[in-house]
Amino acid sequence: MQFKEIIGHQDVKKRLINSVNDGRISHAQLFLGPEGCGNLPMAIAYAQYISCQNKGDDDSCGECESCVKFQKLIHPDLHFVFPVASSAEVKVKPTSTQYISQWREAVLETPYLSLANWQNRIETGNKQLLISKNESESILKVLSLKTYESEYKTMIIWYPERFNIASGNKLLKIIEEPPSKTLFILVAQDAEQIISTILSRTQLVKIGRIKEDTIQVELEKKYALESSIAHKIAHQSDGNFITAQKLIEHSATEEEFHELFKIWMRSAFKGNVAGLITWSENMASAAFGREKQKQFLKYALHLFRESLIKNYGDPEMERTANNELKFLSNFAPYIHGANCIEIIELFNNASYHIERNANPKILFLDISLKLTKLLRVQAPEFN
Ligand SMILES: [Zn+2]
Repeated sequence: MQFKEIIGHQDVKKRLINSVNDGRISHAQLFLGPEGCGNLPMAIAYAQYISCQNKGDDDSCGECESCVKFQKLIHPDLHFVFPVASSAEVKVKPTSTQYISQWREAVLETPYLSLANWQNRIETGNKQLLISKNESESILKVLSLKTYESEYKTMIIWYPERFNIASGNKLLKIIEEPPSKTLFILVAQDAEQIISTILSRTQLVKIGRIKEDTIQVELEKKYALESSIAHKIAHQSDGNFITAQKLIEHSATEEEFHELFKIWMRSAFKGNVAGLITWSENMASAAFGREKQKQFLKYALHLFRESLIKNYGDPEMERTANNELKFLSNFAPYIHGANCIEIIELFNNASYHIERNANPKILFLDISLKLTKLLRVQAPEFN
């Protein structure tokens, strides 16, 4: 991750870069800032800059051997610790190492990551995410090894608020007397929740909210939004880019979904594979996002359900909006007892796989092709 990928905070970037070039890297730092400010990507960009073999004046090169590994978050001298809990996959003594591949995926998708999103991703249910004593032990082990490729070994600790006293005390010792050329970066939101002895041993790097107009420009660039819409979302997000991302994903209206659904079904009925491919690519585009993909699947399921009710049920049970009614009167006859179970299963499975980060382009194309077949199944005849 490079500094240029981080939204705003030019002053912080500059100070960090100067400290590296003046040889003033303090070994334990706290990157403190509110949710969505970008303190996590800032920490990663800083570590990448330190390790870069061809540093520029205002950023890492992005091309050297070290940068290439940093960009995939797989550099052997870059370590992450973050809160975890047990899950169906990791049943006992969960530590960050066991979740590292999910972590890399999540951060590479967006480093503006909330704890709630992280929790969903690793499917730990309602269990509280923690940095446990086991984790502290594994940190000590990792840091006792010598560096592989860089001058510095960097350990980024996300949410040090989630240390408990026992795990925090274990870590404290090493922060007090760190092995040489070791850098701790604590990435936190709430200084009051961090064990005070840890807090007092770190150097503070304060990162504020992102400025509203900076977020606006970023939204226009990244999501190709009209400036009036970008302005509104930037204003609502209050300097929190995680909120801005969420607002964008939820900004889809029913009308947009309805249009998408119509186009989709038209191609499916015609068996227009090229059309289905284009449609799937559109659904998989970055501007769409996983949250919105899930919502769309929910919406599609709702229309199939309404079709069934239209065919077999009580008209008073219909919950369709006006714009859907006309469409449904044509569409409904194709959804019936001989295909409805498979269609509903198809959509439930799709939602399940979207949650688990399936490739959306392949997934949507796969549903499209299966639907094309299912829609051609003849309705059963009743005598
Ligand atoms: Zn480099």
